[in-house]
Amino acid sequence: MTDKIDVASMTRAECAELAESMGEPAYRGFQLFKAVNACPAQPGGLAAATALPKALRGRLSEESRPIGLTEADKIKSASDGTIKYLFAAGNNTIIESVLTEHSYGHAVCVSSQAGCAMGCAFCHTGRAGFTRDLTAGEMAAQVYLAARDALRRPYSVVVMGMGEPLLNFAALTRFLEIITDPEGAGMSRRRITVSTCGIKGRIARLADTGFGVNLALSLHAPDDGLRRRLMPSADAAPIADLLAECAYYFEKTGRRVTYEYILLAGINDGASHAAELARLTRGAGGHVNLIPVNGAEALGFTRPSGGAVRRFAAELAARGVNATIRRSLGEDLSAACGQLIDTRDQKSGTRKA
Ligand code: SF4
Repeated sequence: MTDKIDVASMTRAECAELAESMGEPAYRGFQLFKAVNACPAQPGGLAAATALPKALRGRLSEESRPIGLTEADKIKSASDGTIKYLFAAGNNTIIESVLTEHSYGHAVCVSSQAGCAMGCAFCHTGRAGFTRDLTAGEMAAQVYLAARDALRRPYSVVVMGMGEPLLNFAALTRFLEIITDPEGAGMSRRRITVSTCGIKGRIARLADTGFGVNLALSLHAPDDGLRRRLMPSADAAPIADLLAECAYYFEKTGRRVTYEYILLAGINDGASHAAELARLTRGAGGHVNLIPVNGAEALGFTRPSGGAVRRFAAELAARGVNATIRRSLGEDLSAACGQLIDTRDQKSGTRKA
């Protein structure tokens, strides 16, 4: 990365400090923060931010890194309106974001890293490997750019795209501060979800930041042995430790944790798996989100039948655990969970850009 100023990753307070360091009054920092966060979705970028004095705009254009991301491609699902974005983040790095449409509004799925080092066996992104952490500004730009197509502020933001957000902790917390600022994206904390496969110590650390966003833990297996086979990162984070951190998260933030469970036919979808999953999560007071695997045949995984998925949910319900079956959106363009990978040669979906 360059040593130029990363103004897009600055909080409002940091923008004020920057403005003062450039000989401007502190209120310019507020204007700067507002202008910078309008930039990704605005033609002309910072140069068009006429609320700022011309000299300051000129200096910032020279001394700061480019703001925003370049849209490399945009593909719209023919079946449900889901849009998958491919953004260029410099140095041939392509990242992906997804905009889904629901009865209550739009949700933006944001990537926190280019690629992912966690190597989950059922995940195309994990198989492709890790390139680099994204900056807070690059994460926020995904929200701003998707909001252009939603034509309004998204209802919710989920940090569930490429990457493990708790391994990019500093950028994640900056991103949260920026998008919850009324002059950033103005998002409610209660409509933001951070999804993690569980990095030991980091769930508790997120609780201690005080952001109080929703947390989703990807369990995917009810015992450590199977979990390690599916998620190599589980080696360093036993389920018992993660559940203890989730309990701390709930105690500290009051936000209940969602346990994500991808259903893989013949691997983790049996009645005994459901019973063990219920035993683990019942006391934890959370909610289980069942995700029938999407398009992972090439990786050796198949989706359970609708009947098997419903039976699994019923086993959980019979043991007093709330579970929902996630409706998969964007399947025709590899935008569903675990499918984020650059597939610009695919045939389905409607290319928009
Ligand atoms: S499922 Fe999530 S954590 Fe696992 S490899 Fe894929 S992107 Fe990374």
